[in-house]
Amino acid sequence: MNIVRVALDLPVPRLFDYLAPDASESDIGRRVTVPFGKGSRTGVIAGLAAVSEQPEDKLKTVVEVLRDMPALPAEWLALCEFCSCYYHTPLGEVTSFALPPMLRRGKLPRRSKSLAPASAPASAPDLPQLLAAQQAAVTAIFATAGFHALLLHGVTGSGKTEVYLRAIDNVLARGGQALMLVPEIALTPQLEGRVAARFPAAQIVCANSGMADAARARGFLAALAGDAEIVLGTRLAVFMPLPRLQLIIVDEEHDASFKQQEGLRYSARDVAVWRAHQLNIPIVLGSATPSLESFHHATTGRYQMLELPQRAVAEAMPVVRIVDTRREKLQEGLSAALLAGLQQRLERGEQSLVFLNRRGYAPVLACPPCGWISRCRRCAANLVVHLADQRLRCHHCGYEALIPRACPDCGNVDLLPFGRGTQRLETMLAERFPAARVLRVDRDSASTPKKWQALLASIHAGEADILVGTQMLAKGHDFPLLTLVGAVGADAALFAADFRAPERLFAQLMQVGGRSGRADLPGEVLIQTEYPEHPLYRALVDHDYVRFATTQLDERRIAGFPPFSFQAMLRAEARGMEQSLAFLHAARCAGAALADGVTLYDPVPMRMQRLMALERGQLLVESASRPALQAFLGKWMDQLYVLKMPAGLRWHLDVDPLEF
Ligand code: ADP
Ligand code: ZN
Ligand code: ZN
Repeated sequence: MNIVRVALDLPVPRLFDYLAPDASESDIGRRVTVPFGKGSRTGVIAGLAAVSEQPEDKLKTVVEVLRDMPALPAEWLALCEFCSCYYHTPLGEVTSFALPPMLRRGKLPRRSKSLAPASAPASAPDLPQLLAAQQAAVTAIFATAGFHALLLHGVTGSGKTEVYLRAIDNVLARGGQALMLVPEIALTPQLEGRVAARFPAAQIVCANSGMADAARARGFLAALAGDAEIVLGTRLAVFMPLPRLQLIIVDEEHDASFKQQEGLRYSARDVAVWRAHQLNIPIVLGSATPSLESFHHATTGRYQMLELPQRAVAEAMPVVRIVDTRREKLQEGLSAALLAGLQQRLERGEQSLVFLNRRGYAPVLACPPCGWISRCRRCAANLVVHLADQRLRCHHCGYEALIPRACPDCGNVDLLPFGRGTQRLETMLAERFPAARVLRVDRDSASTPKKWQALLASIHAGEADILVGTQMLAKGHDFPLLTLVGAVGADAALFAADFRAPERLFAQLMQVGGRSGRADLPGEVLIQTEYPEHPLYRALVDHDYVRFATTQLDERRIAGFPPFSFQAMLRAEARGMEQSLAFLHAARCAGAALADGVTLYDPVPMRMQRLMALERGQLLVESASRPALQAFLGKWMDQLYVLKMPAGLRWHLDVDPLEF
């Protein structure tokens, strides 16, 4: 008997056996269409077998083994299997996610004209002379053969990208392929351009979810065939098949967007490290503010620390100043110092950025006499005032409604927007500085890639004087005229319940501050706060990431938080909170007997407890040992799959969760 074991995209943790009379070893890793229910499905052949656990007469025969593209290599299947095991997600869900949608559906893109190498490679006189620290980093990457992880720590502008490019160059010269992961490719067209300019003769493939189906499938096939020499992509690119992969780079490795928050909840950075280990190749993790996990690995010797201590071109780091707002009456949230700074930049013809990580006009609309506030009916969240298009919007579920003319409860017509978002700041700044061109950059104004490119172009062309922006502007951009960054409303993150909030705030402020003074104009960063002595802000003033990270790690060690413990979160959602919590309690009971060296906490409602009319609860599982946690989760999941649950309840497991 010839049986293929097929990974199908179904929420069932097993493979599906089918008869395939003509299948052979060489078909492992091929896509296959099989009958399923009343229709058919396409999956991936994960293995062959002579006998099945199913009764022989129950086995159906495959519709077709798809041999129109090369089989996916064994190491690709092994990567998917690792993710399936580690994230406790059925293999078919992993392979399905790892394939571009078109290939997943059993189709192939039409052939495109092959891209002939355009021009001669850049000659070596054109390249900058590496600084000693950069040279040391490049040398270290190739100093020893085999797997090693290097943490490249250097502030914005310290020349990390230059190190990546040299390392890639080295790999290409040896006939290898390089994989570079970036947090958000839509935000980093500059990088794409820079890589293409450096390697004009190389075939560069991009991989991100914003691409058209056919283009993504073509890129995947080019990588699989070994034609693509450089793959540049977002988190999903970690699954690109690369038969001659010799180097992985993860830029901005601390960025939360490397963790997928739905479906396969994987961390592309962690998977990339595993993949480098699997292939026995080096991996470079780069950041100005490494994740505390990676920093911890580097200080304990698991990773090699590489420091780029100074900026490559601009002489100095921006001066960071703390503006104490405790005794000051702010004008629409802005201090006299920041207003003066903006005025000064205007006079000098330089650009400024006011950074506020909250879009919309105001976070809530309220009726003071009766106490009504604009709340989303479906979520435990307020509806945000968007004055520009006269709407109230839920930033969680997308619900929107016109701004009411009067209070729905008492009829009062004097409704007040409370708090401040980027739209309100934009309005205020335009009134305050009538001569200035104020430009708002957030997900509303840059709602499409085209609009985003247009905004970037006008900033570069010097068509804006004052930018008002969210974290969208913080990443990867070089604005030569920008010399002042003002951060407002940052304090909220200091005391957030999430233990990772300070880490994120520090990274964000460091990153947004790094936007200023990149060229020959010195930069200045003003941070408005009511906590001027807070160690996080003091570390920013001193540009001292290491001090900040060390203090944070000490706190985490005492509290037993990651990286000193390992966590998984079981989440459940249902129409009612009782159902969600009842399921989690049952799950906890089922797990109690299995828990060896693992702590199961009490189920609790999630902080954002209602989303899209579903009530959500969570159960935290923690252990001082990763293997102990993994062993537990494996056994526990078997029980969870057979646990009785009310209709409409959904649950998932999140390993190494980032959000609490
Ligand atoms: P990062 O990735 O750390 O932000 P980059 O690699 O982009 O830093 O370098 C910042 C700027 O300095 C870029 O314009 C780059 O071309 C330039 N640069 C990098 N290394 C050198 C060097 N060794 N000599 C001169 N310029 C350099
Ligand atoms: Zn909502
Ligand atoms: Zn009212």
